[in-house]
Amino acid sequence: MYSKKKKQPTNRRRILECIYRNAPLARTEIAEITGITPATVTNTAAQLISDGVIMEVGEAATEEVSSGRRRILVDIVPDCAYSIGVEFSEKALAACICDMKGNICSQKVVPFTDDLLPNITRQVTDIIMLLIESSKLDWKQFTGIGIALPGHLSIDGNSLITNRQIWENFRPAEISDKFPIPVAMENNARCMALGAYFFHPDTVPDSFALFHVGRGMFCATMVDGELFLGNHYIAGEIGHTIVNENGPLCECGKRGCLQVYSSESRLVRTARMLYENSPNTMLRTLAESADDITLEQLITAYYMGDSAIGALINDALRYLSISTANIVITMNPGKIFMHGQLFAHEGIRTELMDHINRQLAFIGDPYTNSVEILPYSITNGALGACALAIDRFFL
Ligand SMILES: [Zn+2]
Repeated sequence: MYSKKKKQPTNRRRILECIYRNAPLARTEIAEITGITPATVTNTAAQLISDGVIMEVGEAATEEVSSGRRRILVDIVPDCAYSIGVEFSEKALAACICDMKGNICSQKVVPFTDDLLPNITRQVTDIIMLLIESSKLDWKQFTGIGIALPGHLSIDGNSLITNRQIWENFRPAEISDKFPIPVAMENNARCMALGAYFFHPDTVPDSFALFHVGRGMFCATMVDGELFLGNHYIAGEIGHTIVNENGPLCECGKRGCLQVYSSESRLVRTARMLYENSPNTMLRTLAESADDITLEQLITAYYMGDSAIGALINDALRYLSISTANIVITMNPGKIFMHGQLFAHEGIRTELMDHINRQLAFIGDPYTNSVEILPYSITNGALGACALAIDRFFL
């Protein structure tokens, strides 16, 4: 069984998390929000200030000032510590260092090639070393290392659970042994959800879903500020929910799973088949051979008006919209954030939102407005991994 025993959070953690989500705010507000007594908040805040973790950032401009009570606001000290995060996927090996507010200080991205696979463990270790050495920061200044996985960490922490055999050389324990600071690993979409939660408190509610569409897909869910992990690895594997039971065969053995229509890998694979079999496809003007076709070329063909590619993307977005609407209806989270390289393109974003709005037209505005497409960056997963390390080791 895949269950994490819930530990009662410490006052320090509850106060820091409250500051992350509401800063700048006064100690009285921290007490109101957390339910911790004002005296305890004052004592803990004093300790956090003396540790250099939080700072006073000015006074609140409220009517209370006229009553003689000054409300001093506090916030996290951004550079009180640093976090390092890495993501590896079939797009890239990406790593970044960020401060405690999620501002990226340095980053490195190595595009994916098959050469990464045989020694992926060493590649991950090396990129961490390289970034830390070039940062001129001391180990003591790092709160920890986060790694965003293209799958799930096994319960014993010794292997990566994924349908993709290509990552079989990944040895999580070897990475943890290499560094004098703690290392945490979690599914990449869940990392991104943590990143959204801690680094974008103004736009990200306490409960939301983050629907990541990449080579595969995953929907991470945050409930009242906690990642929903479910009872087994399967929680969130939305790519294997069926959207057409007579559809093509999926790698999981079922037919018509969402990911056979909407994952990047299936889109590219279908485009390669079109290249081979359809003499008039515009893909032939974009690539030397079927194997050279990438997601970006497929998107270019879409914008050039290639009708078969247009139909392929339309199907992908329509099925995605059905699944997104199903999440809205079954869970009604505060927001659903869509994330993926596909959505970096405005035409595709518009088409996806049109489909979603049609799916949700029967319930109207508050629901259609709850779906939002996140800006795409190749380092989003690595920044999410930084948030994982902050969540596990700083808070
Ligand atoms: Zn499947």
